[in-house]
Amino acid sequence: MSEDLSALTERELYALRERLAAGVHDPVRTLRGALHLDVRQCSNEGCRCRAGEPHGPYTYLSVYGQGRSRTVYVPQALAPVIAEHVEATRRGEALMLEISRVNLELLRRRALR
Ligand SMILES: [Zn+2]
Repeated sequence: MSEDLSALTERELYALRERLAAGVHDPVRTLRGALHLDVRQCSNEGCRCRAGEPHGPYTYLSVYGQGRSRTVYVPQALAPVIAEHVEATRRGEALMLEISRVNLELLRRRALR
């Protein structure tokens, strides 16, 4: 999506900014992180998982913030909805980065409103 913004007219930059903004997700659905699958061993000494048959795979969300990362278990029933939130957030943040580039170009031209 990284086109050469300097080739666009001011009018085109404003139109591009509107198009990008229209694709940004609803902020109430913001959920930053990365989904992944993992297997687990339980605390039961005699369980099959101790013999190389682990439980799972289960879905987890890795979240990075405040200088550290943590992993949150995602219940199976919620996984599709969580996946949508995470993907919408990723796309939305990429679009906002593009909007910032457009605004920077407008600023260079002393035309940012
Ligand atoms: Zn087990």
